[in-house]
Amino acid sequence: MTGAATSMTPKVYGWCPGALRPMMSGDGLVVRIRAPLGRLSVEQAQAVAELSERYGNGILDVSARANLQLRGVTVDQHPALITALQDLGLVDNDAAIEARRNVLVAPFWSAGDETHILTQRLNSGLLQATDLTLPGKFGFAVDTGPAPVLRDTAADIRIERNGNGFVLVADGAETSQSVTLDSAADEALILARWFLAQGGAPNGHGRMRPLIARRGPPPAHGAPLAAPAPQQHLIQTATGRLIGLEFGQITATDFATLASYGPLRLTPWRMLLVETTDNIVPLPSLILDATDPRLQVSACTGAPGCLQALSSTRALARDLAPYVPPGSKLHVSGCTKGCAHPGASPLTLTATAPDTYHLIQGGTAADQPAQKNLSADQLRTSPDILTKGC
Ligand code: SF4
Repeated sequence: MTGAATSMTPKVYGWCPGALRPMMSGDGLVVRIRAPLGRLSVEQAQAVAELSERYGNGILDVSARANLQLRGVTVDQHPALITALQDLGLVDNDAAIEARRNVLVAPFWSAGDETHILTQRLNSGLLQATDLTLPGKFGFAVDTGPAPVLRDTAADIRIERNGNGFVLVADGAETSQSVTLDSAADEALILARWFLAQGGAPNGHGRMRPLIARRGPPPAHGAPLAAPAPQQHLIQTATGRLIGLEFGQITATDFATLASYGPLRLTPWRMLLVETTDNIVPLPSLILDATDPRLQVSACTGAPGCLQALSSTRALARDLAPYVPPGSKLHVSGCTKGCAHPGASPLTLTATAPDTYHLIQGGTAADQPAQKNLSADQLRTSPDILTKGC
């Protein structure tokens, strides 16, 4: 194995890469776009595909927070790429605004509906909140469809629907705060300030969930939480067709072809939502069959694409996918950071050295392993190792 890191302790940056503040990876800069409302028009999507070919390596990722990443950008080409993305209305003019505008939107909104209105109000509030310095990974979710669909996605403050009204949820709390359409965005910012006032971000780092675990829910929390929606599948929805991407990655060529069907919406589920009712022809990057075993696995970039990876990830995940039991999930992580699936997964393989993995059952990539130092060959030869003792 070449290109793999050698330390088991991953470097913690404490901030998320953006377009203006890209992160260096093994294949060049990763330029992350936070598309407004998580949507790209046909023209924007086709232009991004062309920019990915011109300035990057022609590979795009959809991240676990529904952001779009151009990979393989060189330092020299970065300024020209940013200018082009700003011309498309996809990148802010200021890195501080870009960092604050960390809002995940449930992808099934319609123009003028409550999700659309609340997202615009929250974005506008964050734009104006120049005094609000939140930790780099701190984020919001607007998830106000009939039932929450983003509960499994990291977000520190959520706006959800509960019955006929709206609630604010501090991540980790088992109750919520009743709000209205008019008050929700302002109350979300008040809750963010409460998080800071309670010492949620000592030294500028921290998340809501550990704060709630330490000190309990915020005082205004007392309303019940709504039951979440079932997991999303590759189906035709009222908004468009959900299309799977192997490991959340797509070539620029396929991205442009997909956009010829209609505007694209980004989701946190390794899926794109295409605003069309047409049948989509198979393309190499796409998963169109809801029974495809690759939908049961997630894997980060791994080696050699990530400088912190202790081993490769995706080839092993692809080979083990057919052996993941129905209804279960396997996460293969190149180190303990677990970027591809930050939460707990039924099965996780965390690389500890080249072609060597710990197996964690029902935990995160950093949790205590059930079995240590399994080789890739061992796992491929005896994939039943994964579920022994479950
Ligand atoms: S989890 Fe994967 S992508 Fe994230 S830092 Fe570790 S090796 Fe890199």
